[in-house]
Amino acid sequence: MSKRNIIELLDPAPTRKDSKHEYLLERATGKNRRQMIRASKCMSCDNTATLFRDAASIREYQNSGFCQYCQDMYFEDAY
Ligand SMILES: [Zn+2]
Repeated sequence: MSKRNIIELLDPAPTRKDSKHEYLLERATGKNRRQMIRASKCMSCDNTATLFRDAASIREYQNSGFCQYCQDMYFEDAY
């Protein structure tokens, strides 16, 4: 595994989604996406999510709430 640049995200801001979408997501996961992101937690694994590889990963986190590890697990094909 090669050494990568790491960016620390200190002030995460969840992207806006409409309230119906947020509601369905919370029903499905039992977690509130905006609260999880503001608390720097991962929607998938519940670990602290503050370290990201690049700006695209940070944008993805603020959208999906997935930490870098989970992004790599689930979105591997996207890169
Ligand atoms: Zn995770």
